[in-house]
Amino acid sequence: MSRTQNLHRKFMSGVEERNKGEPEFIQAVHEFSDTVIPFIEEHPQYREESILERMTEPDRIIIFRVCWEDDEGNICTNRAWRVQFNNSIGPYKGGLRFHPSVNQSILKFLGFEQTFKNSLTTLPMGGAKGGSNFDPKGKSDREVMRFCQSMMTELARHIGEHTDVPAGDIGVGAREISYLFGRYKQITNRFTGAITGKGLSFGGSLVRTEATGYGCVYFAQEMLNHKGDALEGKRCLVSGSGNVAIYTIEKARALGAKVVSASDSGGYIYDPDGIDEEKLAWLKDLKETRRGRIQEYAEHFNCEFHGGQRPWALPADVAFPCATQNEISEHDAKTLLANGISVVCEGANMPTELAGAYRFTKAGILYAPSKAANAGGVAVSGLEQSQNALRLSWTREEVDAKLREIMRKIHTQCVTWGSTPGDPIIDYVKGANIAGFLKVADAMVAYGCV
Ligand code: NDP
Repeated sequence: MSRTQNLHRKFMSGVEERNKGEPEFIQAVHEFSDTVIPFIEEHPQYREESILERMTEPDRIIIFRVCWEDDEGNICTNRAWRVQFNNSIGPYKGGLRFHPSVNQSILKFLGFEQTFKNSLTTLPMGGAKGGSNFDPKGKSDREVMRFCQSMMTELARHIGEHTDVPAGDIGVGAREISYLFGRYKQITNRFTGAITGKGLSFGGSLVRTEATGYGCVYFAQEMLNHKGDALEGKRCLVSGSGNVAIYTIEKARALGAKVVSASDSGGYIYDPDGIDEEKLAWLKDLKETRRGRIQEYAEHFNCEFHGGQRPWALPADVAFPCATQNEISEHDAKTLLANGISVVCEGANMPTELAGAYRFTKAGILYAPSKAANAGGVAVSGLEQSQNALRLSWTREEVDAKLREIMRKIHTQCVTWGSTPGDPIIDYVKGANIAGFLKVADAMVAYGCV
């Protein structure tokens, strides 16, 4: 075992000891420190200042009870969190997730990843994440409203445009953000950019809805172009059918690729003819307005539905996992590689299990980790904050051009730090980790021991 492998093992045993019962957080730190520890060994100022030890401990975690009344008058209780991970380079920024699976481990992993993702965007944003084990599925609009209002009654004390700026994530879309912002505005009597993802008529930014998916496809395009290839004509797999998946499909299609799958927690659809403009409009209506299930797509367009499965056994050139964490197992990764996948671009956060990610890296395919590939969402959230502070709105073209430029810059940083002289293969995992680490680490060194 090499010296750095040994250091990594020792470091991780401490992380595991301190974070028992938090497998997702341990996984995220493992992946990150695996590439960052060798870098720290070559740059001892970070070791002398114990930067990695300090970076893997959140600044603070706020946990609170949320009580709300359902339509039958029953009092319901949920748990909510805000993990304020690191504000070295700007106010905390990161989404809120509403899903029954939400727990402290998941929110810590998301907050940790968010810190480096935000650093990669080149914008001044720290990292945070929050949410609740509340399940919006099957709830009426009024129930969702009462939950959001109750949650914000506590959350409002901890956020603000210069402190912490939440946004959406799984289960938190335009409806939830509107209810949350409405209560925030009422409590504070201030109209500020303390939440992003707002409606266009009350401070939202054009292209924010599309940004994560569009940005993910721009990143795939950058990787392919860098290799002298293009997205046009490629057969793509997409998982999920939420915000990120839908706009990934839209942009991939617009750039000439053919997307043959989409999914939800019930299973996946396989549409060999590709999801065209008309089908995508139908899918948007199904998911965004009618809140229906993906199976209905298969029934409506007469294609295959595979219940309880993920689309990774289908042959394709490009995979965009856009649903949730750990949705690509090591077995799925092997299957994708055996079927000739040449690009994996992560729209969801940490969608690939550690062993699967190592398979992709070892195979030398174009593998973009989520902290680089899905940073477009938070980048446009940052642009929404800028527009709110300036009290003006940029046009769709202006925001889209800035998003493209940010994704291009993230790609350049990954190439800079992920290249090895004499080796044409770029390690995007290493590149994203080191580039994301540097800015935060340098700020922490400058602050001294705080
Ligand atoms: P949505 O709630 O809009 O959509 C989530 C999609 O994933 C749905 O199709 C959902 O299916 C599916 N899904 C969720 N959990 C599971 C699960 N356990 N198993 C199978 N399918 C599941 O969320 P987003 O599109 O916003 O987020 C998707 C991913 O992208 C997440 O990892 C999120 O952290 C990440 N992300 C989102 C950003 C954003 O701007 N929204 C920014 C950066 C990253 P169902 O409806 O059946 O639950």
